Amino acid sequence: MSVARKKRARTTRKLIILILVVSIITGICCMVLFWKVHILNEALQNAAEQMDEIKEQLSKQQELLEEIIRMNDTSSIITEEEVYDGADEEQSAQETSEVVEAEHKVYLTFDDGPSKYTQEILDILDEYQVKATFFVVGKEDNTSKELLKKIAEEGHSLGMHSYSHKYEEIYESVDSFAADFKELQDYLYDVTGVKSIIYRFPGGSSNVVSKVDMWEFADYLEEQGVTFYDWNISSGDGSSAELPVEDLVANCTKDIKYRNTSIILLHDSGEKRNTVDALPFIIENILALEDTVILPITEETNPVQHIKK
Ligand code: ZN
Repeated sequence: MSVARKKRARTTRKLIILILVVSIITGICCMVLFWKVHILNEALQNAAEQMDEIKEQLSKQQELLEEIIRMNDTSSIITEEEVYDGADEEQSAQETSEVVEAEHKVYLTFDDGPSKYTQEILDILDEYQVKATFFVVGKEDNTSKELLKKIAEEGHSLGMHSYSHKYEEIYESVDSFAADFKELQDYLYDVTGVKSIIYRFPGGSSNVVSKVDMWEFADYLEEQGVTFYDWNISSGDGSSAELPVEDLVANCTKDIKYRNTSIILLHDSGEKRNTVDALPFIIENILALEDTVILPITEETNPVQHIKK
């Protein structure tokens, strides 16, 4: 083999070794890089999960805070009312707070009636000598008219719950809300002689259906001298007609002792048989609580309102 050929062979070998070394180094670098990216990715995923958890906890705490604020609001208003009702300015602060703490006012409210169960509900209320509040809608058949008259004549409060109960129409604008409101208020006055001044928004003031700010409607009601009432206790019959009687009773009664004012949401609807079956037990359980009374909503009743100014 010539010298020149040997030299070329050596150079080629060197070149191959160099390429091999470079390839191995590049390979190792790639693996390290890949591993790093993988670790980073995992860290990012963990961080995202933690963020979600934090967000969830925050929203839970916010809900809790809102509930506490709501409860505080209610009790502070009640205190003022009780002091006023007491009418004895000499009464000591201690005596006043004892009166406040001792009494729990409970308001049974029935939405969506009249229905095929209204008569039965009225009979049960009569049996227990209890007055309630009916937030009714515009039903113009003769049976409904008779039931509306009975509600008023038997000393229950007649409240408004919109004429049509069609969210998309009522909440379209203040004008359409006002037209629906007037129609119901006039209709109830014609049938019963009662000019209703209490209102419950379909879906409550905290409904998420209305695109118009609910305060626009609330302000309109205020201009009409009408107060709106939401609820701070839900029987649960709105979300399920199949809720067992014992669940309805438990939902209606479990929080009363923590509040001065409990406004309970129930439904007077042809689809809510269980509510009627539960009613005697609901009333009995409430009346069995210490220093607790069941009252109809009147203009003196402190409103429970989900939206705050
Ligand atoms: Zn309703």
